[in-house]
Amino acid sequence: MHIRKQRLLTPGPTPLYPGALQAMMASDIHHRTEDFRRVYQAALRDLKEVLGTSHDVLVFCSSGTGAMEAAVSNLFSRGEKVICCSAGKFGERWVEISRAFGLETVVLEAEYGRAVSVERVAEALAAHPDARGVFVQASETSTGVAHDVRGMGEAVARTEAIFVVDAITGIGTMPLDIDGWGLDVVVGGSQKAFMIPPGLSFITLSPKAWQRAETANLPHYYFDLKKEKKNADKGESSWTPSTSLLLALGAALTYIKQVGMDKLIENAQLLARATREAVREIGLELFAVDTPAASVTAVKAPAGWDSGLIVKEFRNRFGAIIANGQGVMRGKIFRIAHLGYFDFADIFAIIAGLEIILNAHGFPVRYGTGVAAAQKVYAEAAFAREAALA
Ligand SMILES: *Cc1c(COP(=O)(O)O)cnc(C)c1O
Repeated sequence: MHIRKQRLLTPGPTPLYPGALQAMMASDIHHRTEDFRRVYQAALRDLKEVLGTSHDVLVFCSSGTGAMEAAVSNLFSRGEKVICCSAGKFGERWVEISRAFGLETVVLEAEYGRAVSVERVAEALAAHPDARGVFVQASETSTGVAHDVRGMGEAVARTEAIFVVDAITGIGTMPLDIDGWGLDVVVGGSQKAFMIPPGLSFITLSPKAWQRAETANLPHYYFDLKKEKKNADKGESSWTPSTSLLLALGAALTYIKQVGMDKLIENAQLLARATREAVREIGLELFAVDTPAASVTAVKAPAGWDSGLIVKEFRNRFGAIIANGQGVMRGKIFRIAHLGYFDFADIFAIIAGLEIILNAHGFPVRYGTGVAAAQKVYAEAAFAREAALA
């Protein structure tokens, strides 16, 4: 109790891959040199490979929201109509960005904890045949709910609209067949399952999306997809890039390729399952009513509690930073992340810590109740795998 290691356990920024941190130290490199072009080209190639797409992939030096804005400002024209699925704080961000650029928004809202269904998207497309785009979160990080982007993609593909998916916490936590499911634009961010610090965003563009870029007339300057693509083809970024983060990305992508994207996804899904089962055994309730995401598990604080107490206790007792709720969910829920560089030992420790915190404040839990549930998920998955390999 006298030594408390600092642990970053939020759904972004996530724990850092040590190899990526080491790679950042070589950042006294100039970005208009062959050395850097090699780093940049390898990163773009590896990104495309781990995302499993034939579409163009571009990188911006911004947090994820920058690439979200780029999708709006480069692919739409003044006054066009778009459909925004909004199931939480990040869905609201699509609405805000669209409105900031003067687009007419049709908002499909889901109560926090619920998802927007494929049927609602299909109905909205039928009711608004002039809609030019559909926006959604693959994983709504604020509520811990996943969307059926496959089903939505099929519905959008039959129309003139492009499908724009914020997969910032979807990448690395759920299968995403970008080419096969009609995901025209997919947005990612470095500080999530990519295991590196915040500051890079990613965007993939289908041929249908690129067609839009030809006629779109909304203003933009720094986030210019066509310009970025032209420079990326030469191994450079349009502006001075974050060389340190690109070195980190290179190392992280090498690691992700070594683990395998499918295994990284399976890892998050197993940790999410272990967390859900542990929390239920402890006697707490999940916030997600519809399909829970594998990126983060949102848990309701015990009745009458402020979830901020749990967040504060994690920090004070265990040096661990976990996430509170956002917006009106603040104080009501806390969120346990499992995307990227998280393992079972992290989850065992989080659940054990949670049991201690609950007991310390008058919510009795028999020690080990939740931990045992998580151990069972580990044992079932690991032993079955070992038996299959034997
Ligand atoms: C983290 C996150 C973002 C991006 O937020 P930034 O702070 O701009 O990186 C967007 N959408 C979702 C679903 C996220 O989890």
